[in-house]
Amino acid sequence: MATMYTPQDPIHQYPQPPFPAQQQSAPGDVHKMDPEPDHGEKSYVGNGRLAGRKAIVTGADSGIGRAVAIAYAREGADVALSYLPEEQAQAEEVAALVEEAGQKALLFPADLQEETANQELVRRTVEEFGGVDILAIIAGVMPTVDSIDDFETETLDHVLKANIYPLFWLTKAASPHLQPGASIITTSSIQGFQPSPSLAEYAVSKAGIANWTRAMAQQLAERGIRVNGVAPGPVWTPLQPAFVPNEKIEQFGSEAAYGRPGQPVELAPPFVLLASQEASYISGETIAVTGGTPVH
Ligand code: NAD
Ligand code: MG
Repeated sequence: MATMYTPQDPIHQYPQPPFPAQQQSAPGDVHKMDPEPDHGEKSYVGNGRLAGRKAIVTGADSGIGRAVAIAYAREGADVALSYLPEEQAQAEEVAALVEEAGQKALLFPADLQEETANQELVRRTVEEFGGVDILAIIAGVMPTVDSIDDFETETLDHVLKANIYPLFWLTKAASPHLQPGASIITTSSIQGFQPSPSLAEYAVSKAGIANWTRAMAQQLAERGIRVNGVAPGPVWTPLQPAFVPNEKIEQFGSEAAYGRPGQPVELAPPFVLLASQEASYISGETIAVTGGTPVH
């Protein structure tokens, strides 16, 4: 049987557009997507690359965060799962997969737009796992606004509070616990480098995340803590039908050089690499995972 290590043509490895028209409301549900995304539930094979590590993963119920949580557990890490309260059922599925891999799972439903929720997430993780040494900050929102005439201050406040502030809040709260060898991984986007016209608020947050990653990597280098990011191209997750108008979903991913979107499981390996000691000399970098489209 083919595994994630079996050589094959990546273009045809996963579904290609056109996709059925579909729309959800935020934050969205992986089981309402057609076709259902692959988060590695059946395909991710671990190798103990994160044995004994203690990770926090935000946005862990669905999409990229779900794939990363599954991969981290199969690589030997305990995983604290952060998500919104309305995503409880999806998060419980991920917790079950983490435990099936023989690791501890911590369920943490909360809105990370509040600083205290970020502090509490770190406190509970340290209490349950006895420490924390991987922060995978993946949660995000992506409102689309077609015209500056429709710009609203609340939208920008929401995007920055959800996408940027937790980088500072989680890292500050975790700082006293982070030992040399710890790793922080952020989630930028191709939009942070090549913005679409209707994603100005989102794109500025994603450019900010890549820049924060460069700054914090230098700040934390003397403590032996690495800080890196991943910049995905189009990925088949609920973020898309939850935030993007219906007609654009049918051709989603066709703009990538591969002509298809990535599946969440295809994002997990760079998050594993950056978390692992294998990446000892990599810090301050944001790795593009875009199906062949250059971003830098
Ligand atoms: P997703 O909807 O599955 O995951 C986003 C998660 O963010 C949600 O599941 C939710 O749990 C969390 N979240 C949102 N607001 C929150 C809040 N206020 N408090 C706590 N949690 C909150 O979609 P995804 O595509 O897997 O998104 C993960 C990350 O990847 C996001 O940062 C997104 O910007 C980024 N990204 C996605 C794509 C793509 O095409 N899907 C492309 C580039 C970057
Ligand atoms: Mg979700």
